[in-house]
Amino acid sequence: MYKLDSVFISPSDILLIFTKKKMPYRKYEEYNIKVTEEAKENFKSIIENIGEDTAREGLMKTPERAAKAMLYLTQGYNQDPVEILKSAMFKEGYDEMVIVKDIELYSLCEHHILPFFGKAHIAYIPDGYIVGLSKIPRIVDVFARRLQVQERLTHDILECINNTLKPKGVAVVIEAAHMCMMMRGVQKQSSVTTTSGFRGQFEKIETRNEFLKLISDKLS
Ligand SMILES: [Zn+2]
Repeated sequence: MYKLDSVFISPSDILLIFTKKKMPYRKYEEYNIKVTEEAKENFKSIIENIGEDTAREGLMKTPERAAKAMLYLTQGYNQDPVEILKSAMFKEGYDEMVIVKDIELYSLCEHHILPFFGKAHIAYIPDGYIVGLSKIPRIVDVFARRLQVQERLTHDILECINNTLKPKGVAVVIEAAHMCMMMRGVQKQSSVTTTSGFRGQFEKIETRNEFLKLISDKLS
């Protein structure tokens, strides 16, 4: 991390500044000191409870790192997806299907607090308004960076776009691998869970099939 104009910017963003590309979603790493401190103490207890020595050199800073990682991965609770979409809605007559596919997705399952990760494919058919394309992956992040189940994550994204942008239709497909299945329990290492949701014109079989065909080479 580098400090630049009192805003914390990740190295990848610096590269973008130098190449004068438009700044994408800027990665802030700011932590509420009180919450971080409490989470740190809790992680310290967990590490001690599993029989480890938190005074061991390699583990000395682990409770703090784990606390910050957890807060980073759940920062979606402090972000408003509706505001993000509204900040970049533009009047536009275009009314063909808009697809953003292969959106990388990292979330935490709410049952085990273990990661699940994969890709989201999202489409909408505008009805007078379009949204800046970078906002679609951003709202995926906002909902993914909470404790989730894949089904609700799919539904949250779908409803947020549907209720805010009010398009003629929205489609969301998520395919993800769950560490809680892969590392423990049934240990199905290669299984991928696919969830989907459709609203408006995508409830019509032809429109839905067109969308699925357009993303199908990406589906497992
Ligand atoms: Zn789980």
